[in-house]
Amino acid sequence: MNKLEADVIVVAAGAAGLAASVAAAEKEVKVIAFEKASTTGGTGSMGMGPLGVESRRQRLKFLGPTKDEAFRVFMDYTHWQVDARLVRAYIDKAATTIDWLEDLGVEFEDPCAYFPGGHATWHPVKPGTEACAANMYRVLTERAKEKGVQILLQTPVQRVIKEGDRVVGVLAEDRNGEEIEARAKAVIIATGGFGDDPNLIKKYTGYEWGKDLQSFRIPGLAGDGIRMAWEAGAARTEMRMELIYLMPGDINPELAEAFRQPHLLVNLLGERFMNEEIMPNTAFTGNAISRQKERASFLIFDENIKNHMKTTKGFDFLHLVFPYTNAGNFEALMKDALDSGYEYVYEADSLEELAGKTGIDPAGLKAAVEEYNRFCENGFDPIFNKSRKYLRPVKEPKFYAGKQLPGAYGSLGGIKINYRTEVIDKNWNKIPGLYAAGTDACSIYGDTYVFILPGNTMGFALNSGRIAGENAAEYAKALKA
Ligand SMILES: Cc1cc2nc3c(=O)[nH]c(=O)nc-3n(C[C@H](O)[C@H](O)[C@H](O)COP(=O)(O)OP(=O)(O)OC[C@H]3O[C@@H](n4cnc5c(N)ncnc54)[C@H](O)[C@@H]3O)c2cc1C
Repeated sequence: MNKLEADVIVVAAGAAGLAASVAAAEKEVKVIAFEKASTTGGTGSMGMGPLGVESRRQRLKFLGPTKDEAFRVFMDYTHWQVDARLVRAYIDKAATTIDWLEDLGVEFEDPCAYFPGGHATWHPVKPGTEACAANMYRVLTERAKEKGVQILLQTPVQRVIKEGDRVVGVLAEDRNGEEIEARAKAVIIATGGFGDDPNLIKKYTGYEWGKDLQSFRIPGLAGDGIRMAWEAGAARTEMRMELIYLMPGDINPELAEAFRQPHLLVNLLGERFMNEEIMPNTAFTGNAISRQKERASFLIFDENIKNHMKTTKGFDFLHLVFPYTNAGNFEALMKDALDSGYEYVYEADSLEELAGKTGIDPAGLKAAVEEYNRFCENGFDPIFNKSRKYLRPVKEPKFYAGKQLPGAYGSLGGIKINYRTEVIDKNWNKIPGLYAAGTDACSIYGDTYVFILPGNTMGFALNSGRIAGENAAEYAKALKA
């Protein structure tokens, strides 16, 4: 067995783990980071960017809420059902993290909101040579190495070592299957949740992946850190999916955008169930869809709406991640999808045929379309008060539909921490030497992802990581003194 020693051990080098490693190393302690994958960055490398408040960029452009405003929005939104001290610590830290990252060399686009009415807290990373936010994680990895952090790739941690009450290290396995015993004064767990394990998703959230949930599955996110923390005595928090909505299977993103526009959205009964103009708030839409029969919904439009979407400014809603402005290539993309056997887009010459293909109740669909068309004619939707500019009748064959299911970026929560990111046991005592950060410990949203302050999960990962790194380093130093 190989033996290693450090002041602080960080379990994983994803978003939270890298931030924790750098923050601890900047306090001049010896850090080892163990990472299961062959690269650093974790899910973070697939995202666009974190939340920031009062960043230099925001202040220069008079954008976004202040720390106090962001805290109030957060707590109103979650009805104070979450740990207010942890939220406050996160928001306060977020007021410095974007500037800290810029000083390390990360470049950001202008901060923006995610949907109408949201706050401009999202700081998308300038992609540079890498896609999405991968650039930022490369910078953090380089900074970690420069500060002497030893990053061990393909070296998953198996469990936390405890002596008495105190956490004193971890057991890991290197890429050759050799066991490593690593000792440290403090251990920070940040393994990104259980979004890649359908069994854990079913067990802890009730969703059946592939049936009533279409979530991103990032390889390796198997709940390892949560299990290890629980084994070490950590209390459990609520566990949820970070709910949004997505089309099932592998769909061309350009085609998918046509089915995310505010047309007619119905459930399997054929009934409308929400104001479709709310669809850019993907968290609210995910909630609404997950309340429907079989948690399924279908976005429907006709030939006229399709032709409208093909005009230059055809899309009502644009998306930063998939920057298509119209459905100019709709027919070709639809043909490709249907020819390749993609099962979740449909076209038909009549509403009855569409009902047959989608499984929507035909009488329900007919009634819903008649009612909706009446609303469009009157320019007024008395049920959901959808804006008249989106009220376009569905009457001209062909008819098109796309299936939408609840989706998720990943899981949320598992390990109970306090506002210093110290892990808490069932009796509300700290487990000395054990810290957790990021998704494994992210139970601050209550029942709905706080998308009104976008960049929130990456924001929590980076900021709870920084807090954990700083506190674990101070704790290690105090033990050495
Ligand atoms: C497509 C997509 C887009 C997104 N966009 C955004 C966005 O723009 N803004 C935003 O705020 N959020 C976004 N998110 C969410 C955000 O990326 C995550 O919330 C964030 O990365 C979580 O950080 P983390 O450190 O907890 O987990 P991760 O970044 O996933 O890191 C976890 C790491 O743990 C490692 N690991 C697992 N088990 C072990 C083990 N036993 N030992 C050692 N290592 C282990 C994994 O390999 C991984 O590297 C997005 C997510 C997805 C899927």
